[in-house]
Amino acid sequence: MKDISCKLLVIGAGPGGYVCAIRAGQLGIDTVIVEMAKPGGTCLNIGCIPSKALIHAAEEFDKIAHLASGRNALGITTTKPAIDLSQTIAWKDGIVGRLTGGVSGLLKRAKVKVVQGRARFRDGKTVEVETETGRQIIRAENVVIATGSVPVALPFLPFGGTVISSTEALSLSAVPDRLVVVGGGYIGLELGTAFAKMGAKVSIVEAQDRILPQYDAELTRPVSKRLKALGIEVMTGAKARGLAKSGGALLVEAEDGTEISLPADKILVTVGRRPVTQGWGLEELVLDMEGAFIRIDERCQTSMRGIYAIGDVTGEPMLAHRAMAQGEMVAEIVAGHKRAWDKRAIPAVCFTDPEIVSVGLAPDEAKKTGGETKLGLFPFLANGRAMTKQGEDGFVRVVARADNHLVLGIQAVGQGVSELAAAFGLAIEMGARLEDIAGTIHAHPTEGEAFQEAALKALGQELHI
Ligand code: FAD
Ligand code: NAD
Repeated sequence: MKDISCKLLVIGAGPGGYVCAIRAGQLGIDTVIVEMAKPGGTCLNIGCIPSKALIHAAEEFDKIAHLASGRNALGITTTKPAIDLSQTIAWKDGIVGRLTGGVSGLLKRAKVKVVQGRARFRDGKTVEVETETGRQIIRAENVVIATGSVPVALPFLPFGGTVISSTEALSLSAVPDRLVVVGGGYIGLELGTAFAKMGAKVSIVEAQDRILPQYDAELTRPVSKRLKALGIEVMTGAKARGLAKSGGALLVEAEDGTEISLPADKILVTVGRRPVTQGWGLEELVLDMEGAFIRIDERCQTSMRGIYAIGDVTGEPMLAHRAMAQGEMVAEIVAGHKRAWDKRAIPAVCFTDPEIVSVGLAPDEAKKTGGETKLGLFPFLANGRAMTKQGEDGFVRVVARADNHLVLGIQAVGQGVSELAAAFGLAIEMGARLEDIAGTIHAHPTEGEAFQEAALKALGQELHI
């Protein structure tokens, strides 16, 4: 097979890698991308998109089940619903197929050469790929490592049989009767909630003293309340110890030290993800590392000239939109543009029920910057649109500097607030002051009005509370 030489080689076609390759192609850079699985990476195939599809299906099912229970205030009656999970999964696979096909089309349109197979470094400028038709050697002036991450396994609870990762959880053919989730972070809560809504008896085992420890307690309170209402058992300060001998239960050390056996048809382990940095020759390049992750500077440059790293391999926050923004920036740097990471904030959204959004600094983090802060919180209880959607639980909170009112952080928890992430991100990125948000006409009736009211509240000028 003839060797390939190119200006840019991207390894991994997840959101980081494929965006980098598309932008590079658009900029006229001779680009090759290598992918060992499917275009779209974790996000499109086994992450963001499939999980949100499942969450949506579960929500629809739960809504109808609630209406069928006869205890609703809307005056709607219906019969008890049923769900055929294999059909739901087929629908989800259809969406994934459309999106990954779309990525392939975009790469083609940008004239990016796609090589299918596992890349392995020979040296910092040469990679070999085992393809279906033989070994392909690729030499490149610049290399972007975008190999992403995989689920962390617990040594005493290896994946296999009843013990599953998010990947298997997103392709089950039937809803398990009893699901035990180890890890009450992003994936554990998003998927645990979805399976509970579809009828599973769910228990969540979290090692820390509360769920979603990355968010402050005020933000996660409505989520905890809803988990309880859904009948999900949450054990905090608890440690998974291993499978019971029968294989049908998880042994857990509870907070008070007692050992409990939680019966389970499936045990979903979601205790974080680790970067894909080993087993493909990267170790031999001896790049500087930051813990398990590849160390990068503000241009995503690693310690070796001409080698960049983007996305989950470079550490937290392991989010698709961060990977994409890094990918786009690196393509422009390779094209000779003057670029450096200058983003003020990376929005984080947790698709729990209700959803959580956080952009910029939380109140405690803002206080740590030293200056005085102002805070405005507006509850959805006082928002007309939220009431009409039966979504009164939650709020929008704005944190700003007390001296010049520069907005430092915006958080929200509530039904459907993920869609407010765009407005929050824009406000922070454009350096909005409280007066800018308060002075913007927000359409009525929308949940977005709570954002304006939170800013008004921080200014002491609230109207609707
Ligand atoms: P990845 O998407 O992991 O892609 C890396 C690619 O590299 C893979 O396709 C892999 O096959 C390929 N690869 C690896 N090694 C090689 C090699 N040697 N040769 C060739 N190819 C290789 N993030 C969000 O922002 N929002 C969400 O709602 C969200 N939900 C998630 C839900 C779940 C269940 C999971 C697991 C993750 C979720 N994430 C979410 C995280 C998101 O998926 C990742 O942050 C994102 O995919 C990272 O992109 P990436 O390009 O760095 O890596
Ligand atoms: P996570 O870091 O969000 O949560 C892991 C949880 O497991 C933590 O709360 C941790 O305290 C707990 N834990 C760790 N070891 C444990 C043990 N032995 N026993 C019990 N609990 C334990 O990780 P995740 O849920 O696996 O998700 C991985 C990453 O994927 C996230 O960090 C996030 O970057 C990304 N993700 C994002 C979204 C989103 O943006 N909506 C959704 C899913 C995943």
